[in-house]
Amino acid sequence: MPITNPRIAILGNRVPSANLPEISHFTDLGSLLAVAAFDVVLLDMPGTHAGKVLRKLRSIPPYRYTLIYCCREQDALCEALGDGACPADSNEIKTKWRGWLERFKLFNQGTAPERFESRVLSWLWMRDDARIYALRDPEVPQHYRYPLLDALADSEQVNAFVWLSLVAQQNWLEEGVLVDRVRLCSDCGSGRLNFIDVCAECHALDISRQPSLHCFTCGHVGPQESFLKDGVLLCPNCLNRLRHIGSDYDRPMENYRCRSCQAFFVDAEVQARCLDCGLSHTPDKLRVREVRDYRLTEAGRFRCRQEFSDRSAQHFGRLNLLGGKDFYDLLSWQIQLVRRYPDPPFSLIGLRFVNLTGTLSRLGEQRGHAFIDSVTDRLKETVRDTDRCSRSTEEFFWIMLPHTDANGLAIVKQRLGKVAELFSAPEISDVSLRVISITAPQDLLDQEDGELLLARLASELG
Ligand SMILES: [Zn+2]
Ligand SMILES: [Zn+2]
Ligand SMILES: [Zn+2]
Repeated sequence: MPITNPRIAILGNRVPSANLPEISHFTDLGSLLAVAAFDVVLLDMPGTHAGKVLRKLRSIPPYRYTLIYCCREQDALCEALGDGACPADSNEIKTKWRGWLERFKLFNQGTAPERFESRVLSWLWMRDDARIYALRDPEVPQHYRYPLLDALADSEQVNAFVWLSLVAQQNWLEEGVLVDRVRLCSDCGSGRLNFIDVCAECHALDISRQPSLHCFTCGHVGPQESFLKDGVLLCPNCLNRLRHIGSDYDRPMENYRCRSCQAFFVDAEVQARCLDCGLSHTPDKLRVREVRDYRLTEAGRFRCRQEFSDRSAQHFGRLNLLGGKDFYDLLSWQIQLVRRYPDPPFSLIGLRFVNLTGTLSRLGEQRGHAFIDSVTDRLKETVRDTDRCSRSTEEFFWIMLPHTDANGLAIVKQRLGKVAELFSAPEISDVSLRVISITAPQDLLDQEDGELLLARLASELG
């Protein structure tokens, strides 16, 4: 593409110190939105204002994925939705934008992501080290929300917390910093709870702390004032005079009194009363939820790259590529089979493309992608129709070969040598291929299932 410089817009005041010659200036959001979308937007306004503008921009398609920087201080909303502080000069902006554009072009070639999940993952993938930040918000019943998810949801109803934990279970996202731990009503999910002390006997709210006495003669316990008679202490039950604390009477532990049922008790019971639905719960029945930030996993990054290239998707399709969990399950099942019926055996090959991740980011998305394609082509020549592969990160690749003994394995490994030949070109000479293999059942360890086996082999691949 001939365009090498981004069209930059600045919204708000002009930045006097910045070295930004070729930018368009807008004083209000309406006039920015009235013209064709820019490639990069700089917000020069106080943080709280910038946060609101960002929220608006992220929720409309033309600026959903655009690089948007904040020139002044940033509030939490700016952090959650923006691309950070404004780069020092236009050259830095250009560099960042070109990196962004390579990914955006890949993603734009295919169909624009229809699904909420793809929108979120691609937003993260287009920027380095992006996160889904949790934001404290007293206006929402759960106390926290995720502004990025809200902005990308469009009109879809998304339960952010449920969605995040599901996507994290699928290993596309990983948990970041633990921000808070909140307790929520188990009925309506609200976090607006009032913790109250109630009577341990009848659960009435109207209790009070009251000094009380305990008569040793008859065992009566009652409020202190009921023992006072004409200036001396007298048990209202047995009418004995109480002279010495410790020998005639003492102060019991029970020092709460219920005004409703008159019971005395040591510790009041605690209830959490939901201010939204009105129901009361014992604290152990509340739902506990951890609030965290999230970021894209390596597997998620890989999925985005794969999803946005039709050609690559075809190749991987022909490799019978299975997701992590499916592959573990299949492998565990094969292991169970050979433990029971040792014949026929099966084999497993692990490949590690050392330095591949670094090399890919150095090559850039387009060329890196072409390289991945050629690797895939070579792998395809090695893999047979009945084999199954998995590739959960950039660097590790697994091939399961059913009905294959040590001799069959040796032949396949020989063919794999052709893949390694690809790494002789100078620009990718950093990449090297490490191979490990086992034949089951003889190379299995006791109690090993699919996941444990892969973990053992992965650590041997270093
Ligand atoms: Zn009571
Ligand atoms: Zn008494
Ligand atoms: Zn409730």
